Amino acid sequence: MLTQLRESLGEQAVVVDPDVLAARSHDRSGAPAAGTPLAVVRPTSTEQVSLVMRTAHARGVPVVPQGALTGLAGGADAVEGAILLDLTAMNRIVRIDPIDLVAVAQPGVITADLATTVAEHGLFYAPDPASASESTLGGNVATNAGGMRCVKYGVTRDAVRSLEVVLADGDVVRTSPPTVKAVGGLDLTSLLVGSEGTLGVITEITVGLLPAPGPVRGITASFGSNQAALDAANEIMVGPHRPSTLEFMDGAVIAAIIAYDSSVGLPDDAKAWLLVLTDSLTGAAEDVAAYAEVARHHGAVRIDVADDPERVDDLLRARRLLNVAMHDLRGDGLNEDVAVPRGKLAELLVRLAELSERVGLPIGTAGHVGDGNLHPVVCFDPNDPGETRIAHQTHEAILRLANELGGTVTGEHGIGLEKLSAVDAELGPRLRGLQRGIKDVLDPAGILNPGKKL
Ligand SMILES: Cc1cc2nc3c(=O)[nH]c(=O)nc-3n(C[C@H](O)[C@H](O)[C@H](O)COP(=O)(O)OP(=O)(O)OC[C@H]3O[C@@H](n4cnc5c(N)ncnc54)[C@H](O)[C@@H]3O)c2cc1C
Repeated sequence: MLTQLRESLGEQAVVVDPDVLAARSHDRSGAPAAGTPLAVVRPTSTEQVSLVMRTAHARGVPVVPQGALTGLAGGADAVEGAILLDLTAMNRIVRIDPIDLVAVAQPGVITADLATTVAEHGLFYAPDPASASESTLGGNVATNAGGMRCVKYGVTRDAVRSLEVVLADGDVVRTSPPTVKAVGGLDLTSLLVGSEGTLGVITEITVGLLPAPGPVRGITASFGSNQAALDAANEIMVGPHRPSTLEFMDGAVIAAIIAYDSSVGLPDDAKAWLLVLTDSLTGAAEDVAAYAEVARHHGAVRIDVADDPERVDDLLRARRLLNVAMHDLRGDGLNEDVAVPRGKLAELLVRLAELSERVGLPIGTAGHVGDGNLHPVVCFDPNDPGETRIAHQTHEAILRLANELGGTVTGEHGIGLEKLSAVDAELGPRLRGLQRGIKDVLDPAGILNPGKKL
């Protein structure tokens, strides 16, 4: 099969060097790969992807679609005997249409490159995962990536208009016209978004664009309690001044970040902290004043206005230190990605504090409070087997807690290899059965990213 692929795609497109295979076998989750791959195959066109799928399908060989391997759930990890289909060479922005407000791009385009290119046309691509400078558009679509601007613009799914997809048997389909409105069939575009490489290989993506927003500015507010910060966040969310970013950190995270990097300028007496930003072109000053007023009303002990781009970047950078700073406390940490209805956030934080107390391990929580999507981090000493075991049990308890509060075990990072049993528990056998039935229709031989997500 590899000889046949080399003849069709060229020698350099089919790699079996063990070092390359090892390097392409893992994403950033730290999950152990589910097997040793056969080869890395690097197509440069939809036709080549189709040929690879047709060939693999005829022989029942598994195929793992891969982007930049920044995933946090093991979704792109190798499986036994698989072709690792590395799509990063398909990295062309095909078209930017300023009338229809769409961009068409290949899956290997780096997210930030698309954003920068459309900005040169005075346009805006809204999805902004923190990995945007590394991750690919194909990976973002396949994981339905979130980010800090979702509170205003929604997740990646909300930006996707249409997909070109190579099916498991090599056939090429387009899921829908790229129009704003298109209801002539079941919504296969949405089905493919977030499917983590299990239903088809995404080979071209049409995304909706927006006119460029204004410069980002806002406030940070420090509070004496989580409850006060959440009350302020909730009031902002139901008010007329929709923020473009609404982030939260609890006291444990603030202390860890200050200990990790004191230059970030976070207040060392805060028990909870909000970052509230606006990108309104016409009403930014009113937005900022309104956020400050709400924070004051809820007893903020300190409010700082962030009105220059450098300060805003520093604050976003500080928030992004969550994982490294928390891991630094004890040597390692387990990063969670739970989402609950916003009205349950207060209970989530109280129950996390109780859990931390009970198990004797620090848990610090930060995240996208406007979306109800928080990232608790359970810190532990990896050299202490007892502590490591307790940390993993605590991780399971946090996933159960999210479900108990009516939420989900993953708001944006996905299932991959890591959360299969958790999502089984969340959805139950009937829904899981329906989802596996959909997989069987699209991939009856089960060759697309087997053992992941479903
Ligand atoms: C520092 C850092 C910050 C991050 N911040 C965020 C964040 O803010 N929000 C967020 O949601 N995630 C975040 N992530 C997770 C990760 O970046 C996203 O999941 C991202 O969308 C993965 O893109 P990728 O190109 O690296 O895909 P990969 O990791 O290579 O693949 C991810 C999944 O997509 C599938 N896939 C990839 N390309 C295709 C394709 N063309 N067709 C079909 N399936 C495909 C793979 O099989 C796999 O299941 C972060 C990760 C890191 C390391």
